[in-house]
Amino acid sequence: MAAIGRFQKGDDIFYAKVVDGELFRLKGDVFGSPSFEKKPTKLKGLRTLTPVAPSKIIAVGLNYADHARESGKPLPKEPLFWLKAPTSLIPDGGKIEIPFPDHRVDYEAELAIVIGRRVRNVAPAAAARYIFGYTAAQDVSDRDIQKSESQWARAKSYDTFTPLGPYVETKIDPHNLTIQTFQNGQLRQNSNTNQLIFNCFDIVSFVSTNMTLLPGDIILTGTPSGVGPIESGDRLEVRIQGLAPLVNTVK
Ligand code: MG
Repeated sequence: MAAIGRFQKGDDIFYAKVVDGELFRLKGDVFGSPSFEKKPTKLKGLRTLTPVAPSKIIAVGLNYADHARESGKPLPKEPLFWLKAPTSLIPDGGKIEIPFPDHRVDYEAELAIVIGRRVRNVAPAAAARYIFGYTAAQDVSDRDIQKSESQWARAKSYDTFTPLGPYVETKIDPHNLTIQTFQNGQLRQNSNTNQLIFNCFDIVSFVSTNMTLLPGDIILTGTPSGVGPIESGDRLEVRIQGLAPLVNTVK
């Protein structure tokens, strides 16, 4: 497998492998040992969905030293995580909606881990075999609410606050990838996943000591420095090396 997406045509929702702009429908369980149709499927009338429909979204905070510094927060000694509502997801091309026009709402580009197998209490050295792949995400954040509360679920769970996708890359080393945000074509965030304080395997291990992770669950790994506010009409693009770009607009 390589880039796997989830698509909809009418009432039909299906997974497919994406190769050079062509889609090859998947047969069987996407998290099992699927095969693919030999002929590409017709693209007319297709919608791209988020690449998975997770039971939960976990988000890790302050996982790049430079972003912790710009937030004025000390580095956490263990991964700091919270839950985002799965109903906050939107796919590539979806619109981020700002709920309160007078609040500061920020973009946060993040590498997302997609879980592939049920896992509980796994060691970091064994975590990779439970990971299905990686995709791009935004952890959109209402800073006014985030600053006024001691936990961040509400600030980060509004509908449309988790753009995800477009596809899951199943064959990629997640730990040396450039990660960038472009806002209306301007470079705003520019880092590398080799700067992660807790790497993807550390995070999966740590979260799995707290809760069972299920196939399709998403873990956002934190954002680098350069976060900033969004406004209506903006075009946001997350570019992570080796992954298809994630593009969303704001209204
Ligand atoms: Mg974040």
